[in-house]
Amino acid sequence: MLNFVGTRDSSQNCDFKNAVLNPNANFGGLWTLKKIPQIDFSTYQNLDYKTLCEKIFQALDLNLNSKILDSVLNAYESFDDKTNPAPLNFIQKNLAIQELYHGKTRAFKDMALAPFGKLFSLLAKEKKEKYLILTATSGDTGPATLESFKNLENIEVVCLYPKGGTSDVQALQMTTQDASNLHVFGIEGNFDDAQGILKSLIQDLDFKNALQEKNFLLSAANSVNFGRIAFQIIYHIWGYLCYIKTSKVPFGTPIKTIIPSGNFGNALGAFFAKKMGLPLDKIIIASNPNNILSDFINTGIYDISYRSLKHTYSPAMDILKSSNIERILFALFGDQETKKFMHSLETKQYYSLNQTQLKTLQEYFEATYCEDEKCLEIIKNFYDKNLLIDPHTANAIFAHQQLSPKESIICSTAEWSKFAPIVIKAVTKKQSSDKEAIEKILKDQNLNLSPHIEQLFAKPIYHQEVLKISEVKDKILQCLNSTPNTRK
Ligand SMILES: *Cc1c(COP(=O)(O)O)cnc(C)c1O
Repeated sequence: MLNFVGTRDSSQNCDFKNAVLNPNANFGGLWTLKKIPQIDFSTYQNLDYKTLCEKIFQALDLNLNSKILDSVLNAYESFDDKTNPAPLNFIQKNLAIQELYHGKTRAFKDMALAPFGKLFSLLAKEKKEKYLILTATSGDTGPATLESFKNLENIEVVCLYPKGGTSDVQALQMTTQDASNLHVFGIEGNFDDAQGILKSLIQDLDFKNALQEKNFLLSAANSVNFGRIAFQIIYHIWGYLCYIKTSKVPFGTPIKTIIPSGNFGNALGAFFAKKMGLPLDKIIIASNPNNILSDFINTGIYDISYRSLKHTYSPAMDILKSSNIERILFALFGDQETKKFMHSLETKQYYSLNQTQLKTLQEYFEATYCEDEKCLEIIKNFYDKNLLIDPHTANAIFAHQQLSPKESIICSTAEWSKFAPIVIKAVTKKQSSDKEAIEKILKDQNLNLSPHIEQLFAKPIYHQEVLKISEVKDKILQCLNSTPNTRK
């Protein structure tokens, strides 16, 4: 089934397997769904998580044989509760927090990346191909990608992170990985620089040829990969169905979902779920002071030209070029408009929707942003009520307070333990290391730490190197040379 098309040229098409293995469509652009299936979700109310995944994969016509899909979905066995990997926690009668951080790396990236690695590796093996996965991270994608791909066959991973731009815990989650197929480097620059070098290498013919000589194909596990988006549709459906069940409001009740957003993968999952017929109300996009997404949704103008990236307390949302917006543009306005907008963004750092288009966008989305000081205030208020939230989630709580919707699900995208110094700063105004902050919180709140985080501080560090942008290409080729040639 060639049910994927290029966002900038819908005459280009491919199947799901190709969209996963080669996520960048020809002529620039991304692979996306050609047609969005309609589903009567009222018949899905009693499914378990795994069956729900299978149903959605079927409905999307993703054509995986049941043996592969089964083995891929076993990834959720590494979650705290494999029968409920994305549980809801009602903090008020009509407000639930959906905890998307119960995988090994304690951030929502695991929801998609835990199964994705297995999927990718099995598809690569099926085709007898070897892949280099290049990934750039602002902190959470890197750990989840490394965890997902470690020791898998036919895959080498190179992971770039902005040195000093992640929390200690995130850095340790990457630098202590010791599988021989994982290569981790700090970059002198911010996340956009790291993502930029990755995008330019994907287009670099000389680099591709050098890889080909080594018998490697190039791919990416970033949130542009539709293989990740597929899994991110599912937990939004799960969240809705659990909400209905627990709160006893009738099926069909519109529920808002509030999503702390950066590259827009999480929100895109909700958008597809809504398009497929899930009775979601508007999707509320929560931004931090890098408020390009909330400005875009409120004004129709996407303008990077006058902005520079700010370092905030919610670093996983410190993004200006939000990749998955392109798929929204395609789904709402088609390939020609998308091509025009993306061209304008590349050449003028700017594009603007017309009034009709803006209205269409706002039928699906609302948005607001939260200042850093406010973010700390919210963390403290919750802390005083013995509720621990991370700064990304705090942005979403702020959006909930601002737009005061009725029935709502707030997506919580990270466990507090990944951003403990910010939590402590909010509570005591003092600076501390991750380790000190975690210890203080455990004591104050009488909690247990996830063993996945606890173990980190005792592990040896395997990856120390920090690179200039100009050194990245040669370094990657070098580390593939030194890879023992045992994986065929
Ligand atoms: C990745 C991430 C986000 C942003 O998600 P997108 O899908 O890129 O919009 C928000 N919060 C946390 C903790 C994350 O790791």
